[in-house]
Amino acid sequence: MTQSRHVIIVGSGPAGLTAAIYTARAQLEPLVIEGEPSSTSDQPGGQLMLTTEVENFPGFVDGIMGPELMQAFRGQAARFGAEFETAKVSRIDLESRPFRLWIGDPDAAEPTYEADAVIVATGAQSLMLGLPNEERLLGHGVSTCATCDGFFFRDLPIVVVGGGDSALEEALFLTRFANSVTIVHRREEFRASKVMQQRALEHPKITVRWNSTVVDILGENKVTGIILEDTVNGERDELDVSGVFVAIGHRPNTDLFKGQLTMEDTGYLVTEAATTATNIDGVFACGDVQDHRYRQAITAAGSGCMAAIDVERWLESRAG
Ligand code: NAP
Repeated sequence: MTQSRHVIIVGSGPAGLTAAIYTARAQLEPLVIEGEPSSTSDQPGGQLMLTTEVENFPGFVDGIMGPELMQAFRGQAARFGAEFETAKVSRIDLESRPFRLWIGDPDAAEPTYEADAVIVATGAQSLMLGLPNEERLLGHGVSTCATCDGFFFRDLPIVVVGGGDSALEEALFLTRFANSVTIVHRREEFRASKVMQQRALEHPKITVRWNSTVVDILGENKVTGIILEDTVNGERDELDVSGVFVAIGHRPNTDLFKGQLTMEDTGYLVTEAATTATNIDGVFACGDVQDHRYRQAITAAGSGCMAAIDVERWLESRAG
């Protein structure tokens, strides 16, 4: 039997859960479809579930562990009556009114839920190298966010993998902490903008390993080194490092909405300036799924709050 809801929030990172806190307090009885664990790097709670210590989320003087922070967000939303379904949306129909969402069999005739309004907070994921030890050491020396984790690598040697603007930006940022930053790039020229290339190449702490790929990450409980392979002659060597920052791009989780919500070429959802409104009336988007610029937990939470307020006003305007 199809269940009807005022608001369904898809996604349970800082954006989705902040939207849940606000819509629950507005007595809209939100349902959060929070996802389900499908691998270590794909879990309800979003990217903070893959982080160890978070020191830049305001309000925690001594920092807080990423998963603990997300547990607190979730508990706070539940306290005000938000409900949770631990599953993934398999299909969504945003053409109909109310909107229709399926869990499980996407071909089922009846949707699992109907909703007057939908908040999309499905986030983004960092592209990873796909090495077995990369996943195991994520949060223990392997990181995808220099702004979040750079501070933990004071006076230590680190590598940044990638050759785009993100990699060079991360590398430059990390020079504030690390004693050396090695950029590992698989080709012999960067993809990044010229100005970033110049800055990186001129920096005294940065060296580049061209035509190289990381084929293994070493360390029991924390990263101690990497194995590099030369893409030209196949030779391998070991580099002692304490941190591996993977900066080979991000992918927003928007496959579900293709053909319905307006997206940029890169897949990020387009929202109306200074709001969370998408191209479909009644569908709002917040957090990293529509933000490739800031990508911080606090900015995601802020836009989750905006989406909740946008939904509340939108529902009120229809009722009125
Ligand atoms: P990107 O431009 O797609 O660059 C990804 C880099 O990672 C490329 O150098 C690519 O190598 C490398 N790479 C991809 N898969 C790899 C793999 N499996 N193993 C090793 N290396 C791999 O991504 P991005 O740097 O995240 O940037 C995304 C967009 O945001 C770009 O348009 C960028 O200009 C923009 N951006 C701008 C700024 C800024 O202006 N300050 C900052 C960040 C990002 P190849 O070059 O060989 O393909």
